[in-house]
Amino acid sequence: MSAVLLLNADFTPLKTLSWQHSVGLVVRDQAMVVDTVPGRRVRSARLELPWPAVIALRRYVPVRPVPGPTRHNVLLRDGHRCAYCGLSHTELEPGEVLTMDHVVPRSRAVRGKVVDHEGRSIDVNGWRNVVAACPPCNHRKAARTPEEAHMTLRVTPRIPRPAELWAKGRVPASWRPYLAKTAA
Ligand SMILES: [Zn+2]
Repeated sequence: MSAVLLLNADFTPLKTLSWQHSVGLVVRDQAMVVDTVPGRRVRSARLELPWPAVIALRRYVPVRPVPGPTRHNVLLRDGHRCAYCGLSHTELEPGEVLTMDHVVPRSRAVRGKVVDHEGRSIDVNGWRNVVAACPPCNHRKAARTPEEAHMTLRVTPRIPRPAELWAKGRVPASWRPYLAKTAA
């Protein structure tokens, strides 16, 4: 794992970077090293410094990236469990994987929008309309809403914060204190 966690100047997580990009920011004094990979150092003809694990920007930037609802990210948000029956990915039949279900079916979309059960207009492919589903539940639900299929959502599909997704994924131990800051 050589990716580096980039923190904002207030130490809230922003995104991950390559170590090369990170060293560039540190060398140009745009970022400082907050935590390092023990026992490793970056060496070149002109510089030597500890191998960064976590760096922080010197100046605060107000932007917060919103991660997209890719299958990987949706499974992270939903804890790798089916949003309908609660089955974990480890409990699926051999060869089966969790799928992405559109809560309001894509066939109902008008110009990329659907109306959710509370009457709100939401993006058909957005965070609030996609959940993790096991193949049997996805098959059973088919092109229906949960209400029409008499199925209950165990979770409310919502937009997660970036750090919340990272905190649920496989990340270096040195990142965890910083992710915990905003993942609560
Ligand atoms: Zn299921």
